[in-house]
Amino acid sequence: MIKTTMKAAFLPGNSTVEIREVPVPEPGHGEMLLAVKASTICGSDIRAIYHQHLGKGPEGYQGVIAGHEPAGQIVAAGAGCRRLKVGDRVIVYHISGCGVCNDCRRGYMISCSSAEYRRAYGWQRDGGMAEYLLAEEKDLIDLPDSLTYLDGAQVACGFGTVYEALQKVGIDGNHAVLITGLGPVGLAAGALCRKLGAEKIIGIDLSAERRDLAVRLGLCDSVLAAGPQNAGQVRDLTGGKGVERAIDCSGNAEARAAALRATRKWGRMVMVGEGGTVAFNPSPDLIHDQKAIYGSWVTSTWLMEELVERLVRWNLHPEEIVTHRFSLDQADEAYRLMASGRCGKVAVCPTSSEERS
Ligand SMILES: [Zn+2]
Ligand SMILES: [Zn+2]
Repeated sequence: MIKTTMKAAFLPGNSTVEIREVPVPEPGHGEMLLAVKASTICGSDIRAIYHQHLGKGPEGYQGVIAGHEPAGQIVAAGAGCRRLKVGDRVIVYHISGCGVCNDCRRGYMISCSSAEYRRAYGWQRDGGMAEYLLAEEKDLIDLPDSLTYLDGAQVACGFGTVYEALQKVGIDGNHAVLITGLGPVGLAAGALCRKLGAEKIIGIDLSAERRDLAVRLGLCDSVLAAGPQNAGQVRDLTGGKGVERAIDCSGNAEARAAALRATRKWGRMVMVGEGGTVAFNPSPDLIHDQKAIYGSWVTSTWLMEELVERLVRWNLHPEEIVTHRFSLDQADEAYRLMASGRCGKVAVCPTSSEERS
């Protein structure tokens, strides 16, 4: 039985969460209504929305229901749905694109070039911090039975984003990998690099809690406290040569420069962490050592499907980096904890039981 009103969380932009009672939407053509089972909080929510509405363009928050990392179960389908049905478990690819521009046709709705139709869940259209979520069928990824909803929510943004970045630079058993920033995205990078066979994984973070978590979960072989000696320390851990691959998940200027300097000759670095700046000296830091820097933003729908298939094959459960779970009523506490950084991934679970039609 679907209710007519539901609780939903909004972010007014003053470091609080507001819970409001709003109507449950009805799915129109090509749309599906999900009971939200898991909705995780992203660093971007904190950076661009929670404290202040700082985001612009694709990160502009339009006062909608928050949350862009949802997974749930379909409870109603509008006319014209072609693949999924009531009862199916799904992940929401968190940007609804126009579907017909070049980027959308490549599966990269994140880069949709339609100013009129591109709408990200939790930014410009209602997101997952509610009991129900209205989504377009084309934005949904099938969640296999052996993965949990919390696994799925992690794929919706963090794990999907990292998987894309790792595909761009390529990771294999010859590689020592450096991860700067051990928040949820950095931890996801550690988990995926392990499964891709990286020979040695080194992590850097300011927070002792996060470094300890990375080691406890077996996602890093060595961890370093962030500081000016980092590039030298990483070279010491890699026979004086540096890492083959570096992944910046910090968005921090010093960490990015250290990651680039700790990357060896012919190595590759990829930037995933958003915001901020970086300063480096192109000749010694990049050109003379024949290095490459990649940028990577979210992922495509097809790579997200591929990741889901591999998670099952690898028996990898992204849920393992979720350290705290809250009900929707406790969303305020959940965002406050995430903003403190003293945690792994923080999840809100708006509805719990499976709904069978
Ligand atoms: Zn996110
Ligand atoms: Zn588009």
